Amino acid sequence: MWFYFAIFLLNIIFVCCLWFCAAVNADFKKDVYAKTGITLKDLEKNQYQFVPFEEKWAHRNHYFMRPEGQKVTTIILHDTVGNLFSTLNKFSDGKEHPLNAHYIVTQKDGLVPGGLVIEMVPPPLMAQHAWPSWFRGKDNANDYAIGIELVGKGFVDQGGKRSFYAYDSAQIKALARLLTRLVREYDIRPENILSHGDVSPQRKYDVTIAFPWRGLYEKYGLGMGLDGDERTPEQIMEKFPVPYALPQKFNETFFQNMLTLLGYDTRFADDHDASAGEKRAKWANVYQAFFAHYSRNGQGALWRGKPDQRDQFWAFALGAKYFGKDFEKASKTENGSVDP
Ligand SMILES: [Zn+2]
Repeated sequence: MWFYFAIFLLNIIFVCCLWFCAAVNADFKKDVYAKTGITLKDLEKNQYQFVPFEEKWAHRNHYFMRPEGQKVTTIILHDTVGNLFSTLNKFSDGKEHPLNAHYIVTQKDGLVPGGLVIEMVPPPLMAQHAWPSWFRGKDNANDYAIGIELVGKGFVDQGGKRSFYAYDSAQIKALARLLTRLVREYDIRPENILSHGDVSPQRKYDVTIAFPWRGLYEKYGLGMGLDGDERTPEQIMEKFPVPYALPQKFNETFFQNMLTLLGYDTRFADDHDASAGEKRAKWANVYQAFFAHYSRNGQGALWRGKPDQRDQFWAFALGAKYFGKDFEKASKTENGSVDP
């Protein structure tokens, strides 16, 4: 009796599964395939799988022309916050102000494998993923950047505490492969692999502090980073000597100058209409972007808060390592001011 009941139950479960798959398939065809040409079959291949862009998928063409003669110099990483389907829909809905990015890299989620790379827009064309933005003296990064969206939720705020979701390992492996290819193809310098938070620190927090920037640097040589012997203040002073004394204790003005020299948008500091409180809040957002990407990467509990001596030395060392003597010279402080 129990045996037959168990068989009966299994059958019900089986039929439900079939029904669910068929429903997913129908929705997928209607929502995604019709606009993008991406099939469920594409999503089943559980490996680095490249779904290239084809001219005929008109609504996948949420794209614009880059300014004439504009070179691609930069890569900007994002979190989608939504899942793959909602992202594909958002990136192909034909709206008047269309959002998009050049690539979407999936995480494992139900039928969707992790590490699928979907090209939404070929990099010679422009996609809208980082507007407004400003970095190293240039606004609108869309003009010169390739946008890569990582499917994922980013973070959640609960009970006054912020927690960060881990990234999918297959997703990161596929991303590393994609980045390696793009860096080679477009000759992208390490200091030009950035997060959305780096170029829009007052509005955006993606990718989060949980994103493995350090792993990408150590394992694949991607992006800016400090090596094992370049991390403590003592090591940094030995490795990047300067003919003047660096502030040994934490000096906020020095740290702020380092962030400006690294390229962050700190123009608000000269805004005479802004109150001291407003400026403090804006600095906190810039600090947060720097912590997440560099000095506190991988340490979710330290995502925000007062910067310290270690953050300050990291900012100096990254500048000295990647921008050389000019940066060292510019980092000389006299009464806390920088003379670039
Ligand atoms: Zn973003």
